[in-house]
Amino acid sequence: MRFAIISDIHGNLQALEAVLARIDALGADSLVCLGDVVGYGADPAACIEIVRDRCSHVIMGNHDAAVTGLTSMEYFNSAARASALWTGEVLSGEDLRWLAGLPWEASLQDFVIVHSTPDKPENWRYLMSESQARELYDFFGGPLLFYGHTHYPMAFERLNGEVLWRGRQGFPLEDGGRYIVNVGSVGQPRDGDPRAAFGFYDSGARAIEFHRQEYDIAGARKAILDAGLPATLAERLAHGR
Ligand code: ZN
Repeated sequence: MRFAIISDIHGNLQALEAVLARIDALGADSLVCLGDVVGYGADPAACIEIVRDRCSHVIMGNHDAAVTGLTSMEYFNSAARASALWTGEVLSGEDLRWLAGLPWEASLQDFVIVHSTPDKPENWRYLMSESQARELYDFFGGPLLFYGHTHYPMAFERLNGEVLWRGRQGFPLEDGGRYIVNVGSVGQPRDGDPRAAFGFYDSGARAIEFHRQEYDIAGARKAILDAGLPATLAERLAHGR
């Protein structure tokens, strides 16, 4: 099975459409979304409609939870809070109920998905280092965990007791290895590359792929400004920060 993995779309319809067109061109058996469908971007309803229609599995992100009142916004910066409040106002009751019903994590064929970290997903920790990754292998079963939340593509490998940073190049899974992988963010990349990020897991070939896709950044920025959302949210898309 070829699983396309997308995460952190954040209401960026331009990025989502470009990524899905590329996924369709590359070929996927199943689409999986790791949460944060909404927040920051100007098209939350359109993104929900597409994700609900196209993805076999979707889990809860912190922005999805904040918009529906399931998690506190107290640690959000002012732009994040403003966009979450705006998103809550423009979404229909049906869309809000769908977001509120998303699971915290899910197990698929031979992998697990979670938005933040598998120990306590509701704490919304940011997994960025080998030392953090080392502590998390006890909290999921099987060889592979996908997570999002940081908007940084990266991977960690535990093999023969050692945990190594695998960077953001594709790689094959080693027999006996266990992996924690972030494919990056579709709608708000933060690693300095403004192109939308996504990935594939090919369970037959046992391989991880990282991809980047150009999209209409100017259109996404204009939509944010036209919606009256904070200008910083439009600005950062151009820089991938
Ligand atoms: Zn996010």
